[in-house]
Amino acid sequence: MNKGSVIIVGLGPGNENLITPEAQTAIDQATDVVGYIPYVKRIAPRDGLTLHASDNRVEIDRSIHALEMAVEGKQVVVVSSGDPGVFAMASAVFEALEEGIKDHPEWASLDIQVVPGITAMLAASAACGAPLGHDFCAINLSDNLKPFALVEHRLRHAARGDFAMGFYNPRSKSRPTQFGQVLDILREELTPDHLIIFARAVSTDEQVINIQRLGDATPDMADMRTVVLVGNSGTHVIEGTVIVNTPRSQKDWAAS
Ligand code: SAH
Repeated sequence: MNKGSVIIVGLGPGNENLITPEAQTAIDQATDVVGYIPYVKRIAPRDGLTLHASDNRVEIDRSIHALEMAVEGKQVVVVSSGDPGVFAMASAVFEALEEGIKDHPEWASLDIQVVPGITAMLAASAACGAPLGHDFCAINLSDNLKPFALVEHRLRHAARGDFAMGFYNPRSKSRPTQFGQVLDILREELTPDHLIIFARAVSTDEQVINIQRLGDATPDMADMRTVVLVGNSGTHVIEGTVIVNTPRSQKDWAAS
Protein backbone atom coordinates (compact mmCIF):
# COMPACT_ATOMS: atom_id res chain seq x y z
CA MET A 1 0.00 0.00 0.00
CA ASN A 2 1.21 3.54 -0.79
CA LYS A 3 2.30 5.62 2.14
CA GLY A 4 -0.40 8.17 2.84
CA SER A 5 0.18 11.85 3.36
CA VAL A 6 -1.55 14.95 4.69
CA ILE A 7 -0.57 18.24 3.05
CA ILE A 8 -2.14 21.34 4.58
CA VAL A 9 -2.23 24.08 1.94
CA GLY A 10 -3.24 27.73 1.81
CA LEU A 11 -5.30 28.82 -1.20
CA GLY A 12 -4.42 32.51 -0.83
CA PRO A 13 -6.95 35.36 -0.54
CA GLY A 14 -9.17 34.40 -3.50
CA ASN A 15 -7.51 35.16 -6.83
CA GLU A 16 -6.42 31.96 -8.58
CA ASN A 17 -3.13 33.63 -9.59
CA LEU A 18 -2.23 33.89 -5.91
CA ILE A 19 -2.29 30.10 -5.35
CA THR A 20 1.36 29.07 -5.17
CA PRO A 21 2.65 26.45 -7.63
CA GLU A 22 3.55 24.23 -4.65
CA ALA A 23 -0.04 24.33 -3.33
CA GLN A 24 -1.40 23.68 -6.85
CA THR A 25 0.91 20.66 -7.29
CA ALA A 26 -0.31 19.20 -3.98
CA ILE A 27 -3.94 19.67 -5.11
CA ASP A 28 -3.20 18.12 -8.53
CA GLN A 29 -1.69 15.03 -6.87
CA ALA A 30 -4.35 14.63 -4.16
CA THR A 31 -6.79 11.73 -3.94
CA ASP A 32 -8.89 13.57 -1.32
CA VAL A 33 -9.40 17.22 -0.43
CA VAL A 34 -10.99 18.21 2.88
CA GLY A 35 -11.95 21.66 4.13
CA TYR A 36 -14.60 24.23 4.92
CA ILE A 37 -17.35 24.33 2.24
CA PRO A 38 -16.43 27.66 0.51
CA TYR A 39 -12.75 26.70 0.28
CA VAL A 40 -13.42 23.20 -1.12
CA LYS A 41 -15.67 24.90 -3.73
CA ARG A 42 -12.50 26.53 -5.11
CA ILE A 43 -11.07 23.09 -6.04
CA ALA A 44 -11.87 21.88 -9.58
CA PRO A 45 -13.45 18.41 -9.54
CA ARG A 46 -11.65 15.70 -11.55
CA ASP A 47 -11.56 11.90 -11.86
CA GLY A 48 -9.70 10.28 -8.99
CA LEU A 49 -10.32 13.18 -6.60
CA THR A 50 -12.90 13.04 -3.81
CA LEU A 51 -13.97 16.36 -2.28
CA HIS A 52 -15.01 16.34 1.40
CA ALA A 53 -16.57 19.70 2.28
CA SER A 54 -17.59 20.30 5.89
CA ASP A 55 -19.15 23.11 7.89
CA ASN A 56 -17.40 25.75 9.94
CA ARG A 57 -16.31 24.95 13.54
CA VAL A 58 -15.67 21.22 12.93
CA GLU A 59 -11.94 21.68 12.39
CA ILE A 60 -10.87 18.85 14.74
CA ASP A 61 -13.31 16.30 13.23
CA ARG A 62 -12.10 17.32 9.77
CA SER A 63 -8.49 16.89 10.86
CA ILE A 64 -9.12 13.41 12.31
CA HIS A 65 -10.84 12.45 9.06
CA ALA A 66 -7.78 13.65 7.09
CA LEU A 67 -5.38 11.65 9.32
CA GLU A 68 -7.55 8.52 9.09
CA MET A 69 -7.68 8.70 5.29
CA ALA A 70 -3.89 9.14 5.13
CA VAL A 71 -3.50 5.95 7.22
CA GLU A 72 -5.50 4.18 4.48
CA GLY A 73 -2.80 5.29 2.01
CA LYS A 74 -4.58 8.33 0.56
CA GLN A 75 -2.90 11.57 -0.54
CA VAL A 76 -4.97 14.00 1.48
CA VAL A 77 -4.90 17.77 1.03
CA VAL A 78 -6.45 19.95 3.73
CA VAL A 79 -7.35 23.39 2.36
CA SER A 80 -7.51 26.75 4.15
CA SER A 81 -7.91 30.21 2.70
CA GLY A 82 -4.88 32.50 2.83
CA ASP A 83 -2.09 30.82 4.77
CA PRO A 84 -2.92 27.56 6.58
CA GLY A 85 -0.90 28.61 9.64
CA VAL A 86 -2.81 31.88 10.19
CA PHE A 87 -6.04 31.25 12.15
CA ALA A 88 -6.57 28.14 10.05
CA MET A 89 -6.20 24.38 9.61
CA ALA A 90 -2.48 23.70 10.25
CA SER A 91 -2.79 24.16 14.03
CA ALA A 92 -6.07 22.19 14.02
CA VAL A 93 -4.43 19.18 12.33
CA PHE A 94 -1.52 19.27 14.79
CA GLU A 95 -3.90 19.59 17.76
CA ALA A 96 -5.82 16.54 16.52
CA LEU A 97 -2.53 14.68 16.00
CA GLU A 98 -1.27 15.52 19.49
CA GLU A 99 -4.58 14.57 21.09
CA GLY A 100 -5.03 11.30 19.19
CA ILE A 101 -1.50 9.98 18.75
CA LYS A 102 -1.59 7.76 21.88
CA ASP A 103 -4.63 5.88 20.56
CA HIS A 104 -3.37 5.99 16.95
CA PRO A 105 0.40 5.36 17.03
CA GLU A 106 0.27 4.86 13.24
CA TRP A 107 -0.26 8.65 12.90
CA ALA A 108 3.38 9.23 13.98
CA SER A 109 4.79 7.82 10.75
CA LEU A 110 2.50 9.78 8.41
CA ASP A 111 4.04 12.27 6.00
CA ILE A 112 2.49 15.60 7.13
CA GLN A 113 3.49 18.87 5.48
CA VAL A 114 2.36 22.50 5.56
CA VAL A 115 2.46 24.52 2.32
CA PRO A 116 2.32 28.28 2.95
CA GLY A 117 -0.08 30.68 1.23
CA ILE A 118 -0.59 34.42 0.94
CA THR A 119 -2.46 35.55 4.01
CA ALA A 120 -5.26 38.15 3.85
CA MET A 121 -3.41 40.93 5.66
CA LEU A 122 -0.43 40.76 3.30
CA ALA A 123 -2.68 40.73 0.23
CA ALA A 124 -4.60 43.70 1.69
CA SER A 125 -1.37 45.52 2.44
CA ALA A 126 -0.21 45.08 -1.15
CA ALA A 127 -3.59 46.31 -2.44
CA CYS A 128 -3.23 49.71 -0.72
CA GLY A 129 0.53 50.32 -0.73
CA ALA A 130 2.82 49.34 2.12
CA PRO A 131 0.97 49.93 5.44
CA LEU A 132 2.90 47.06 7.06
CA GLY A 133 6.34 48.44 6.15
CA HIS A 134 7.42 48.52 9.81
CA ASP A 135 6.67 46.28 12.84
CA PHE A 136 3.19 44.74 12.85
CA CYS A 137 1.00 42.11 14.47
CA ALA A 138 -2.07 40.05 13.58
CA ILE A 139 -5.07 39.68 15.89
CA ASN A 140 -8.09 37.43 15.42
CA LEU A 141 -11.04 39.43 16.81
CA SER A 142 -13.26 36.35 17.19
CA ASP A 143 -13.93 35.18 20.73
CA ASN A 144 -14.80 31.70 19.50
CA LEU A 145 -11.53 30.21 20.84
CA LYS A 146 -10.51 32.79 23.49
CA PRO A 147 -12.26 35.18 25.88
CA PHE A 148 -12.97 38.66 24.50
CA ALA A 149 -11.00 40.02 27.49
CA LEU A 150 -7.84 38.59 25.86
CA VAL A 151 -8.72 40.29 22.57
CA GLU A 152 -9.05 43.61 24.45
CA HIS A 153 -5.79 43.01 26.35
CA ARG A 154 -3.73 42.29 23.22
CA LEU A 155 -5.34 45.13 21.28
CA ARG A 156 -4.54 47.70 23.94
CA HIS A 157 -0.94 46.54 24.25
CA ALA A 158 -0.41 46.42 20.49
CA ALA A 159 -1.79 49.96 20.21
CA ARG A 160 0.45 51.16 23.06
CA GLY A 161 3.39 49.46 21.37
CA ASP A 162 2.67 51.50 18.21
CA PHE A 163 2.41 48.32 16.13
CA ALA A 164 0.58 48.37 12.83
CA MET A 165 -2.13 45.69 13.11
CA GLY A 166 -4.19 43.35 10.98
CA PHE A 167 -7.56 42.21 12.33
CA TYR A 168 -9.05 38.93 11.09
CA ASN A 169 -12.70 37.90 11.61
CA PRO A 170 -13.56 41.49 12.63
CA ARG A 171 -17.36 41.31 12.76
CA SER A 172 -19.89 38.54 12.24
CA LYS A 173 -23.67 38.15 12.54
CA SER A 174 -23.17 36.33 15.86
CA ARG A 175 -20.81 39.08 17.14
CA PRO A 176 -22.46 42.31 15.90
CA THR A 177 -21.32 44.64 18.71
CA GLN A 178 -17.76 43.63 19.63
CA PHE A 179 -16.15 45.46 16.72
CA GLY A 180 -17.65 48.70 18.07
CA GLN A 181 -15.86 47.97 21.36
CA VAL A 182 -12.63 47.35 19.41
CA LEU A 183 -12.91 50.78 17.75
CA ASP A 184 -13.61 52.37 21.16
CA ILE A 185 -10.44 50.80 22.64
CA LEU A 186 -8.38 52.00 19.68
CA ARG A 187 -9.79 55.53 20.12
CA GLU A 188 -8.76 55.47 23.78
CA GLU A 189 -5.18 54.55 22.82
CA LEU A 190 -4.61 56.31 19.47
CA THR A 191 -5.28 59.72 17.90
CA PRO A 192 -8.43 60.34 15.78
CA ASP A 193 -6.33 60.90 12.64
CA HIS A 194 -4.69 57.45 12.90
CA LEU A 195 -5.21 55.51 9.65
CA ILE A 196 -7.46 52.44 9.53
CA ILE A 197 -8.09 50.52 6.31
CA PHE A 198 -11.06 48.24 5.63
CA ALA A 199 -9.97 45.79 2.91
CA ARG A 200 -12.86 43.64 1.69
CA ALA A 201 -12.72 40.59 -0.63
CA VAL A 202 -9.11 41.39 -1.45
CA SER A 203 -7.81 40.09 -4.79
CA THR A 204 -11.32 39.16 -6.03
CA ASP A 205 -13.62 41.05 -8.46
CA GLU A 206 -15.47 42.41 -5.43
CA GLN A 207 -12.41 43.97 -3.77
CA VAL A 208 -13.04 47.26 -1.92
CA ILE A 209 -10.31 49.25 -0.15
CA ASN A 210 -11.78 51.84 2.24
CA ILE A 211 -9.15 54.13 3.81
CA GLN A 212 -10.42 55.98 6.89
CA ARG A 213 -9.28 57.99 9.91
CA LEU A 214 -9.96 56.27 13.25
CA GLY A 215 -12.20 59.19 14.27
CA ASP A 216 -14.50 58.53 11.28
CA ALA A 217 -14.50 54.70 11.33
CA THR A 218 -17.80 52.95 12.06
CA PRO A 219 -18.46 49.27 12.89
CA ASP A 220 -20.53 48.65 9.75
CA MET A 221 -17.40 49.20 7.62
CA ALA A 222 -16.26 45.66 8.50
CA ASP A 223 -17.77 42.23 7.93
CA MET A 224 -16.41 38.67 7.78
CA ARG A 225 -14.99 39.22 4.29
CA THR A 226 -12.97 42.20 5.55
CA VAL A 227 -9.48 42.30 6.99
CA VAL A 228 -8.87 45.54 8.89
CA LEU A 229 -5.44 47.15 8.86
CA VAL A 230 -4.45 49.78 11.42
CA GLY A 231 -1.34 51.82 10.71
CA ASN A 232 1.34 52.88 13.16
CA SER A 233 1.83 56.53 14.18
CA GLY A 234 3.83 57.22 11.00
CA THR A 235 1.45 55.60 8.50
CA HIS A 236 0.07 58.11 6.00
CA VAL A 237 -1.45 58.52 2.53
CA ILE A 238 1.12 59.92 0.09
CA GLU A 239 -0.18 63.34 -0.97
CA GLY A 240 -1.87 63.40 -4.36
CA THR A 241 -2.30 59.60 -4.38
CA VAL A 242 -4.28 56.86 -2.64
CA ILE A 243 -1.08 55.03 -1.67
CA VAL A 244 -0.78 54.19 2.03
CA ASN A 245 2.78 53.98 3.30
CA THR A 246 4.41 53.15 6.59
CA PRO A 247 8.01 54.38 6.53
CA ARG A 248 10.67 51.75 7.22
CA SER A 249 12.28 54.04 9.79
CA GLN A 250 10.91 55.30 13.12
CA LYS A 251 14.18 56.81 14.26
CA ASP A 252 12.41 59.87 15.67
CA TRP A 253 10.16 57.79 17.95
CA ALA A 254 10.22 58.74 21.65
CA ALA A 255 8.17 57.25 24.52
CA SER A 256 5.44 59.68 25.64
N1 SAH B 1 -6.07 31.61 6.93
C1 SAH B 1 -6.69 32.84 6.46
C2 SAH B 1 -7.51 33.53 7.54
C3 SAH B 1 -8.76 32.76 7.97
S1 SAH B 1 -9.73 33.66 9.10
C4 SAH B 1 -5.58 33.77 5.92
O1 SAH B 1 -4.41 33.50 6.13
O2 SAH B 1 -5.93 34.76 5.27
C5 SAH B 1 -10.93 34.41 8.00
C6 SAH B 1 -10.73 35.91 7.94
O3 SAH B 1 -9.66 36.21 7.04
C7 SAH B 1 -11.90 36.69 7.39
O4 SAH B 1 -12.88 36.96 8.39
C8 SAH B 1 -11.23 37.99 6.95
O5 SAH B 1 -10.93 38.81 8.07
C9 SAH B 1 -9.89 37.46 6.42
N2 SAH B 1 -9.90 37.25 4.95
C10 SAH B 1 -9.72 36.09 4.31
N3 SAH B 1 -9.71 36.29 2.96
C11 SAH B 1 -9.89 37.61 2.77
C12 SAH B 1 -9.96 38.46 1.61
N4 SAH B 1 -9.83 37.97 0.37
N5 SAH B 1 -10.14 39.78 1.79
C13 SAH B 1 -10.25 40.31 3.04
N6 SAH B 1 -10.18 39.56 4.16
C14 SAH B 1 -10.01 38.24 4.03
